[in-house]
Amino acid sequence: MIETIPVNQPLLDGKERQYLNECIDQGWISSEGPFVKRFEQEFAARVGRKYAIAVSNGSVALDAAVVALGIGAGDEVILPTFTIISCAAAIVRAGAIPVVVDSEPDTWNMVAAQIEAKITPKTKAIMVVHIYGLPVDMAPILALAEKYGLHIIEDAAEMHGQTYNNQPCGSFGDISTFSFYPNKHITTGEGGMIVTDNEVLAERCQSLRNLCFQPTRRFVHEELGWNLRMTNLQAALGLAQLERLDEFVIRKHQMGKRYTELLADVPGIELPLVSKEYAHNIYWVYGLVLKEKIPFDAAEAMKRLGEQKIGTRPFFWPMHEQPVFRKMGLFLGESYPVAERLARRGFYLPSGLALTSEQIERVAIAVRELLMMA
Ligand SMILES: *Cc1c(COP(=O)(O)O)cnc(C)c1O
Repeated sequence: MIETIPVNQPLLDGKERQYLNECIDQGWISSEGPFVKRFEQEFAARVGRKYAIAVSNGSVALDAAVVALGIGAGDEVILPTFTIISCAAAIVRAGAIPVVVDSEPDTWNMVAAQIEAKITPKTKAIMVVHIYGLPVDMAPILALAEKYGLHIIEDAAEMHGQTYNNQPCGSFGDISTFSFYPNKHITTGEGGMIVTDNEVLAERCQSLRNLCFQPTRRFVHEELGWNLRMTNLQAALGLAQLERLDEFVIRKHQMGKRYTELLADVPGIELPLVSKEYAHNIYWVYGLVLKEKIPFDAAEAMKRLGEQKIGTRPFFWPMHEQPVFRKMGLFLGESYPVAERLARRGFYLPSGLALTSEQIERVAIAVRELLMMA
């Protein structure tokens, strides 16, 4: 019996157990526990931000970011079509309108050059999403934000430990957000973080996280918030993980390098770019895109690899092709050919931190066989 290679498995063999035991021994399991502040402080320092607000996941971090910036009915926010639903959902739930751009064929990140044509008097922000391992080329986007007076929301959910021109990802937004889902570079099981240098925005996010309770009259509300609080248990995990972030990034980097060595001469696939002038790929996930000449699509490739007990995941499905948004009348008649191709031809290989070099070799052999037969 060959063993299944899961698409993701986290590494939890640092101080996770010790810190969790401290929570239990001390009875601190809610969001009031001491690990939450410690994790926030250490995380803020790590990305070079003044404030960090721990929340229950990366999706709600985006919800809070949009609302904290005062984005609402009638406002427009520009984002990549090739991203996770959380990004567009946060905009739509706030009553605002998502406006999308296509992806670069090699980095899979949003095309900065398509943004300016989409800016209108209603545009309030650009939501930058770094995809899969390489950061978005920030310089032209920051210049546009400056020129038109737009906010930047930076979704750095996949970019823990990554830098753009030697500056940490997560340091570029008016508000930047992270996720700690178990497939991210560091995990808290479920969890997220909002970071900012702006005191007013930090206070707004803290308030939104905690039902907008008021300091003086607790149960009298001027605004509606949510319960987005992170527990002490989650923060304990997060702190233990954060201590190992540098090691994890090196490990991911080596895993990506190994996959690339083993797959470089396999015909019919595009591999992730190794680097751009502003960053090296940190391979949050190791993605493949099937070239035109391969007679089957990503769904079929994943099915066949599944038969070999190899876990995979499809790439994102573009926002402009989401039935839920089409039903709302959004993106009608719009087409973004690169994102559409990535969605149909792209998928990713097992990429978790616990992946061994033997497993990488077995995956690479299976991919080679799959494509040789094509
Ligand atoms: C994972 C992810 C999220 C969502 O984070 P959750 O913690 O799963 O809610 C948001 N944006 C991007 C780009 C992600 O990869």
